[in-house]
Amino acid sequence: MSDLLPWQADTWAGLMARARDERLPHALLLTGAEGIGKRDFATRLAEALLCLRPREDGDACGECQACGLLAAGSHPDLRLVAPPEDKKVIPIDTIRAAGEFFALTSQYNGRQVAIIHPAEAMNPAAANALLKTLEEPTPGALLMLVCSQPSRLLPTIRSRCQRVAFALPEPAQALAWLRQRLPGDVDAEALLALAEGAPLAALRLNEEGGLAARQSLSRQWAGLLEGREDPLAVAAQWKPWGLTRSLQWLNSWVTDLIRLKSAGPDAAISNKDLGAQLQNIAQRLDLRALYAFLDQLTEYGRLAANNLNEQLALEDLMIAWRRSAARR
Ligand SMILES: [Zn+2]
Repeated sequence: MSDLLPWQADTWAGLMARARDERLPHALLLTGAEGIGKRDFATRLAEALLCLRPREDGDACGECQACGLLAAGSHPDLRLVAPPEDKKVIPIDTIRAAGEFFALTSQYNGRQVAIIHPAEAMNPAAANALLKTLEEPTPGALLMLVCSQPSRLLPTIRSRCQRVAFALPEPAQALAWLRQRLPGDVDAEALLALAEGAPLAALRLNEEGGLAARQSLSRQWAGLLEGREDPLAVAAQWKPWGLTRSLQWLNSWVTDLIRLKSAGPDAAISNKDLGAQLQNIAQRLDLRALYAFLDQLTEYGRLAANNLNEQLALEDLMIAWRRSAARR
């Protein structure tokens, strides 16, 4: 059974109380930032509901036959719906199969649970197929949609689900949790800031070597302005981190640079660990160039939702950044 994350305790208790009174709806929409544990929460709830001998507090026992099947990933009354391997989109067939799953009879305790994650990955046809399932709920069935961008869901889907909104944890709570799981020499605060306050995302970032990579990327990025680096080579270094995250980091650095330019070297910045580097860049560029680059980041952020060639986008951005140096 997955651990209950401390910042989810209240939400968990609320849903457990409703489950005890048989007051759970047929569909829940779990929303909140990426990397705060929404999917873990959904899995945990599924386990609690499908367990044959739940504990007094409603948690799964971890010992019964159902719990054994859940641990093995083979419980017939649980269906996990995600994009097929190597794909970003959930197609209609996958959603239809989930509909057929709910048409079957529960094999154990009368309940059936399906988790769709990430729900915003459904294409329009899949979303429409899901509406059918939502309109004809099966008794004992619970559908959980896990989603960090609910605005990308059809309004008709949102309105048929009860929303469970997860806020970012308090920074002190997130840091305490994170420090228990990180080696002592890792800067948990910098990592959490980099993950925009999402603890699980911070942990993942650490496993991927995020802090070190970001240091080296920021050095190369500064080197572009001095003509020390080649934009295409730098873009290739960014590529493994993906366009979305690259835009996030660049955005955060440029925003800090604008703060330093406007409020001076003592300005409060988010990337404290890159302070010296950013001070250096701030001296080289004027505000106009920074705002122009920020505009470009925003534009690519808008385009990123479509099928954009990530490599070309990154190359374009690095070339534009190098040009910023000349624009003063
Ligand atoms: Zn059990």
